Amino acid sequence: AIELWGIKKRFGELEVIKGIDLAARRGEVIALIGTSGSGKSTLLRCINLLEEPDDGEIIFDGEALDLKRGRDGTLHPANREQITRLRAGIGFVFQNFNLWPHMTVLENVIEAPVHVLGIPRKRAIAEAETLLDKVGLAEKQRTYPAFLSGGQQQRAAIARTLAMHPAVILLDEPTSALDPELVGEVLGVIRQLADEGRTMLIVTHEMRFARDVAHRVVFLDAGRIEEEGPPSRVFGNPHSERCRAFLATHL
Ligand code: ATP
Ligand code: MG
Repeated sequence: AIELWGIKKRFGELEVIKGIDLAARRGEVIALIGTSGSGKSTLLRCINLLEEPDDGEIIFDGEALDLKRGRDGTLHPANREQITRLRAGIGFVFQNFNLWPHMTVLENVIEAPVHVLGIPRKRAIAEAETLLDKVGLAEKQRTYPAFLSGGQQQRAAIARTLAMHPAVILLDEPTSALDPELVGEVLGVIRQLADEGRTMLIVTHEMRFARDVAHRVVFLDAGRIEEEGPPSRVFGNPHSERCRAFLATHL
């Protein structure tokens, strides 16, 4: 569903992503793990061009993105329609939920389907109600985000992402801003998405969750893929010394 080839990204002198090849098949769940600063968030942000990569190629649903190099040397989309399709087709779930505070939960969920996809308001509301029910927020449609717990806010944010019918969902530490007792309810929703066969890349520090839910674990170290494989193998018998050391302190 999504392929990355030779992705590189630097911030000034600091090369953060040093040439990453990574492809997620349809229905595949990939857990991205690694120490703080290894480039996990930057890599995710490059996938839907929240950051513009310096080099490399992105192929989404078989279509290569037409990226052009600007005067500053970074790659940027040459084709606005293509980028709109990519952004609409790749959902992003943020650590801090990023719900619009001045909108109710329902309004948050229908905003993009109505204004970006042009879905009629009535149909968008009906779909949103189904999605909110699915994430356990049927009773909170008319509530503003400030009156929700962190776990409820994140579940609302997931419903908002699903409302765009994304082909791929990127999640950047979706539970790390939550109080420990709220982590389970959000992981439960993500697990349900995995069971439905959704394509997801999840940056997470929840190693047990990664082991249970991911099809593949990718260990990032200093902007490179240091190790990858099925969770049973990576967790059970990490080949790389760095991965072994990371897991020793995070399992
Ligand atoms: P964490 O686990 O702490 O979230 P991470 O693996 O997600 O870490 P990134 O956020 O991708 O790491 O950051 C990788 C490196 O890039 C860090 O050294 C960070 O300081 C740097 N960096 C990230 N974004 C920027 C930016 N916009 N400008 C300058 N440097 C940045
Ligand atoms: Mg990060």
